[in-house]
Amino acid sequence: MRYGIAIDTARCMACYNCFMACKDEHCGHASKLSAPQPHTGQFWMNIIEWERGDRPGNIKVATVPTPCSHCQDPSCMKVAKNGAVYKRDDGIVIIDPEKSKGQKAIADACPIGAAFWNEELQIAQKCTMCAELLDEGYKMPRCVESCPNQALIFGDLDDPNSEISKKIAAGKVTPLKGLEGIETNVVHLNIPSVFLAGTVYLPDDEVAIGASVTLTCKETGSVFKTETNWAGDWEAEDLEKDKEFDIVIEMDGYKPVKLSAKTDTDHFVDETLLEPAK
Ligand code: SF4
Ligand code: SF4
Repeated sequence: MRYGIAIDTARCMACYNCFMACKDEHCGHASKLSAPQPHTGQFWMNIIEWERGDRPGNIKVATVPTPCSHCQDPSCMKVAKNGAVYKRDDGIVIIDPEKSKGQKAIADACPIGAAFWNEELQIAQKCTMCAELLDEGYKMPRCVESCPNQALIFGDLDDPNSEISKKIAAGKVTPLKGLEGIETNVVHLNIPSVFLAGTVYLPDDEVAIGASVTLTCKETGSVFKTETNWAGDWEAEDLEKDKEFDIVIEMDGYKPVKLSAKTDTDHFVDETLLEPAK
């Protein structure tokens, strides 16, 4: 048995229910495994958001719920003295509130900032995956229970037939920055990489609906195809990062247009005007 949470960022709608459920469970009261989470300054279920895009009207927001990843080989555990951080048989990583006294290094060692230093109590703290509730027979952590959109799936990672294992097997696993190459019991799926976008017009300010847009990566040769929508807009999401792309826009009766763009950041490429073929 190895407990885990799969976080499908594509399903997260930034409602903050999981954030609030975590605060409700851990703020103001200690459990057998943790001191109370302070009301401010600590986010055991942290919702990381960032704006994507460089043009008003084409801005999107990415939302990545980020609790402790419960690493298989945790950096926080490596620096802890006296067994202040330990891994349970079910894979959950716990910081002992008594033994972690004075060990700020534990909080500093986490590569994703998921462990916090409590200045007042002089202890390190973080998400317990609600292990204290699971031990009492609860079926899942409070954050998972509160999610209205099944963005969080809890279960046994060692069971290939569990819902969580199937979800991970079928999804695009995207490790967090700082945890690349590290096996974790909290697994993020579908964190977006980079998008390119544009708008295509016809003469007389008409938008071009259904123009085909083909993006080819100059380095890897990978091809992404899409079409302009009812507003003449196109978008290619989740492209390989830091690559150069050739872009060809085609529509029957009009001359093709060639563009190029880099995926160093989410980028609105161009407003393209198609000219009649003759
Ligand atoms: S994510 Fe950070 S706090 Fe959690 S187990 Fe890994 S190193 Fe420790
Ligand atoms: S409860 Fe679910 S949908 Fe809401 S912020 Fe958390 S993960 Fe996202």
